[in-house]
Amino acid sequence: MAAISAVFLTNLEQGDHVVALDQCYGGTITLLNWGAEHFGWQVTMIDARDPSSWPAAFKPGTKLFHIESPTNPTLCIVDIAAAAALAHKHGALLSVDNTFASPIGQHALALGADLVEYSATKSIGGHGDLLAGVVSARADLIGKVYKTRKIFGPVPDPQLAWQIERSLKTLPLRLEAMNANALELANRLSKHGSVVQVFYPGLASHANHEVARRQMRFGFGQVVAFDVKGGAPAAQAVVESLKLVRHGPSLGGVDSLASLPSHTSHIMLGVEGRAKAGIPEGLVRLSAGIEDADDLWADLEQAIAGVPSAVA
Ligand SMILES: *Cc1c(COP(=O)(O)O)cnc(C)c1O
Repeated sequence: MAAISAVFLTNLEQGDHVVALDQCYGGTITLLNWGAEHFGWQVTMIDARDPSSWPAAFKPGTKLFHIESPTNPTLCIVDIAAAAALAHKHGALLSVDNTFASPIGQHALALGADLVEYSATKSIGGHGDLLAGVVSARADLIGKVYKTRKIFGPVPDPQLAWQIERSLKTLPLRLEAMNANALELANRLSKHGSVVQVFYPGLASHANHEVARRQMRFGFGQVVAFDVKGGAPAAQAVVESLKLVRHGPSLGGVDSLASLPSHTSHIMLGVEGRAKAGIPEGLVRLSAGIEDADDLWADLEQAIAGVPSAVA
């Protein structure tokens, strides 16, 4: 959030207009609401699933278009090159929160983004033991962000910088293992009789699978979401019955984690808001770690089998 807030505070002045996705990270939406309250930022939210509605969101003088791809928790894919073209046509900068894909998984700057952010808390750190953020941009833009950071002060201490440097050495190895596990679990879940729907851009059935193949370079990410038969109580029972996979809200680490978006990241939307955003009440979000795929599958199978309504 330090990275994203530095980008917004640098590029949005009093009363400026910003366009962002409904599906953005919850903290980003909170930041936009805070900016609207404190600085009169004008915020227009758009649906990641409906690109035809995006051009109408722009106004003369729109400063920033902020997107994510894949999005949390339903893994919508946004065509980054198309989003860049749209932003630039309207004189706006494109900002991409590239956390879910990772820096080697998706080269957002090469696809036309102006500013790219990461939660290094996720796959960059990769061990669930640090909090940090990253901004990448060309020299003139990053220089301004650097100044904002200096003023507000979210600067990593040397110990944290060293932890990140050490983590980076294994980033490709970790991503390869995590992304392969995620794809394998997504494939197996999509054939499971108690699973209503699987959300994963690596599946050929995903609405934007072709776009994901084009812009993702290293697999399709660690996060898989699935809708369990039986709704919210079934999803809760699954998450509570997992043994190897731990119940926790983060992602992109070597240890697999499962969470319930309706109880954590998307609790503030309420039932209606989640329905509008296309988030089923029975959704389980899984971040695949580097464990053995068969062990993970055995854990998921026993957890799903333990849910009476899911089996029925
Ligand atoms: C976790 C996350 C963030 C916030 O990261 P912190 O390191 O917790 O501040 C922002 N965007 C996305 C997509 C995330 O998953």
